Amino acid sequence: HHQATPSPADIEELGRLIDGDVVVPGDDDFDEARSVWNGMIDRRPLVVARAADIGDVAPVIEFARRHSLPLAVRGGGHNVAGNGTVEAGVVLDLRDCNRVEVDPVARTATVEAGATLAELDAATTPHGLAVPVGVVSGTGVAGLTLGGGFGWLTRKHGLTVDNLRAADLVTAAGETVHADASENPELLWGLRGGGGNFGVVTSFTFDAHPLPQPVFAGNLIYRQPNWASALAAYERWTRDLPEEMTSMLTVLTPPEELEMGAEPLLVCGFAWAGEDHGAGRRCAEPLLAAAPPDEQLVGPSPWTEWQAAMDAAFPRGRRAYWKNTSFDRFDDEVIDVLVRRAAEQTWRGTAFDIHHMGGAVGRVPADATAFPDRGSRFWINIYGFWQDAADDERNIAFVRGFAADMERHSTGGQYVNFLGTEDLGGPEAAGPGAGPGARGGDDDGAAAERAAWDLALAVYGPDKLARLSELKRRYDPENLFRLNHNVPPRDP
Ligand code: FAD
Repeated sequence: HHQATPSPADIEELGRLIDGDVVVPGDDDFDEARSVWNGMIDRRPLVVARAADIGDVAPVIEFARRHSLPLAVRGGGHNVAGNGTVEAGVVLDLRDCNRVEVDPVARTATVEAGATLAELDAATTPHGLAVPVGVVSGTGVAGLTLGGGFGWLTRKHGLTVDNLRAADLVTAAGETVHADASENPELLWGLRGGGGNFGVVTSFTFDAHPLPQPVFAGNLIYRQPNWASALAAYERWTRDLPEEMTSMLTVLTPPEELEMGAEPLLVCGFAWAGEDHGAGRRCAEPLLAAAPPDEQLVGPSPWTEWQAAMDAAFPRGRRAYWKNTSFDRFDDEVIDVLVRRAAEQTWRGTAFDIHHMGGAVGRVPADATAFPDRGSRFWINIYGFWQDAADDERNIAFVRGFAADMERHSTGGQYVNFLGTEDLGGPEAAGPGAGPGARGGDDDGAAAERAAWDLALAVYGPDKLARLSELKRRYDPENLFRLNHNVPPRDP
């Protein structure tokens, strides 16, 4: 990939070709335009093109190709590895393409690629419908969906990709392609977990499910002396639960904004995706009896409020470093690791989540979608997130150490949407002080492809990777779309 820096005239021409704004270094809003959720990501694109409508997508792709510039495609900007921005390249920001159309009769929602979870939920809720998405409302539907997607409705309705019926995309060659069960079904298969590898998705159509309003949901809060017994009770409780019940453990030192004190807390959150609140309450009771919480907030909650309930704990612009894996065993040894590591959290905002899976996720055949691991009972996401660069080293070391402790209990899964900079080889990968340019440059492109292939093999396994790379050769043979959890077109 030989890069040719675009001239000011080239950039002006791009500005004329698209309806949206083109932001370049020196513009007042450049710093805002180049930033993403993870404050560690400090990259300086040459151009940020803000698509005003879907028609703007093809000219931006063409611009990046013509100048052989790396292209970052951004929805909600929450990707932790920072793939929503790029050093010395082009950002296609779809944030303003955020229309959502709900068909209450067919029970579908069609979403433009820049919509956030909040915008999708706001559109479906008045119809008494919901699409299963994630748990922080500012997250982009696009990135979340392309990697899998799990949240409060997962055990009842499956992963977000299990509810993806159709998508439209613009390929590297600028062609518009539709994918659904009858037209390009293999492409639909690949989009269900294979990331943004095949083009810029412009719209997603999802199944939307009836969801009673309000929902029955709650948070059970445990202080340190009760962690071990609460975790053991939680494990027993999850062995036999109806699919309506999805729950998640979070251990966090609440950020100051929440005014919940400076002590690390274990929170068991749950949502009941059923009509009957009494049944939900009865389902939660054995856990409450076996592990009485120090505090609890349990009861009916309007869906959009529940979906935003965790937002304050995840403010944009904090520095973040994540690692994740799947696991089945949740015995005393694992509980020891969790309790010990949870107690080490001495700074605010650092946390880990454990998502209870199973239910509808496990009922979808393993080869029905590109999503790699449906069998594991739990996923753990370990995340440092903090404010000052001075704390980088300590917090990264904490996440790495914790991940190493979990390694021998792991079932080997890696959820691409929770991969951090290190796994994806970003310039921040080497840790504090690493220089820019590790991705998309001329010099280390080959090493990056090797690393991408090895990671894709570890994530997807040989069979799925073979299918995904075949799709890649068909839709993006030159790997224009490589700032993602990349599927290289071939084994380098
Ligand atoms: P972006 O950074 O905008 O995009 C991420 C990547 O997706 C891009 O680099 C690109 O490769 C690709 N992409 C985006 N748009 C397009 C497009 N239109 N066409 C093609 N490719 C595209 N995940 C869950 O499953 N459940 C959760 O509950 C959850 N909670 C989260 C909470 C927080 C605070 C954060 C930061 C992340 C969370 N995630 C969760 C992970 C989330 O799914 C990923 O970070 C995802 O990448 C975010 O998508 P985005 O559109 O916001 O990100």
